[in-house]
Amino acid sequence: MRSLSVGCILNQAHFLNARLADGTVADLAIVDGRFSAIAPAANAASPPPGAVDLAGQLVLPAFVEGHIHLDTSFYGDTWRPHIPCTNGFDVRERVAFQMRNLEQAAPMAERAKNQIELCVGHGSLAMRSHVMVDAAVGLKHVETILGVRERYRDLIDIQLVAFPQSGILSSPGTAELLDEALKLGCDLVGGLDPASFDRDVKAHLDVVFGLAEKRGAGIDIHLHDRGALGLFEIEEIVARASASGMQGEVAVSHAYALGDISAEALARAGESIAAAGVAIMTNAPGDHAFPPVAALRKAGVTVFAGSDNIRDSWWPYGDGDMLNRANMIGYRSGFYEDWELEAAYDVVSHAGARALGLEGYGIRVGAKADFVALRAEHVPEAVVAVPKDRAVYRGGRAIARNGEMIG
Ligand SMILES: [Zn+2]
Repeated sequence: MRSLSVGCILNQAHFLNARLADGTVADLAIVDGRFSAIAPAANAASPPPGAVDLAGQLVLPAFVEGHIHLDTSFYGDTWRPHIPCTNGFDVRERVAFQMRNLEQAAPMAERAKNQIELCVGHGSLAMRSHVMVDAAVGLKHVETILGVRERYRDLIDIQLVAFPQSGILSSPGTAELLDEALKLGCDLVGGLDPASFDRDVKAHLDVVFGLAEKRGAGIDIHLHDRGALGLFEIEEIVARASASGMQGEVAVSHAYALGDISAEALARAGESIAAAGVAIMTNAPGDHAFPPVAALRKAGVTVFAGSDNIRDSWWPYGDGDMLNRANMIGYRSGFYEDWELEAAYDVVSHAGARALGLEGYGIRVGAKADFVALRAEHVPEAVVAVPKDRAVYRGGRAIARNGEMIG
């Protein structure tokens, strides 16, 4: 990339020769952080002062990190070797490992900052983070992460989910703490395996949907339960989302059960999930069945993605790069054709924006000029090549290059 001249007019920016997702090459004008004009590349003899020539780089809207845990990662901290569960995957045991690890971790604000900069550096400028709330930690995690969010508000839009990591009924006092967390500034109320963790689906969901209604908050529930049990819980969540008029405001994260059931059952579930406007989040985990992305999208379900855990007590993987996540989703889904690779990209971009209810998303006049410029001919190539050479712009201002924050 070469800059044609130094400096630019206050609150205005121009980018030349941007390759858009549809293959056209365009000049982009930005005023007050939003696209004011997008026109076919003019190759003008005298471009506007300060214009940046993108020289045909692919320009994509900034990625959407739809599920992360800013409070529990050790990214940038001491390496924590993974501890296996004693008798197969067990959420309760993993939570206990996590509590032990966190006692010895670097300060939370520092670890959260490391993770945010990792994500922004790779091009995610909107994020949804779950933040642990339970009787042991109270609101300490929420208060810390709210402070971190405030410090980074000029660089990234962060939604926070008050997340009952130790259950709601299993950890007395948590319902009241979740309510406090929403009052303090969390945007959504979370949940955790209402059946296997709290052993009372109705009571668990009564609290979650009750708090959402009381505080006008969205809902994003962690659901690891498998097979028929998990499907039953999804059906309960879908029914409540419809009954409470919360279409577009409810998400189920992981929803592994959707990867366990027959094609016929999945088609029926997909139809009702789509009709209720419930979004499904997957990170395409390596050793689990996971929601079939293509079949759900075909049914009209919004499927979005997140890194979930990065270098934490749950697993050692994660790099904060949502383009790499699109690659993993495509790889695990058996996506080979261009339209399928484009679907994998959609999961980490436009579908993520829909799931999070983002305003002004995309490369279009009037949208926020939050974008990534990278070296790829088109979206399918970007998904398979995952170029590290990329620049990240917030409101038209360069904030990261090649994975590193600028300034
Ligand atoms: Zn999670």
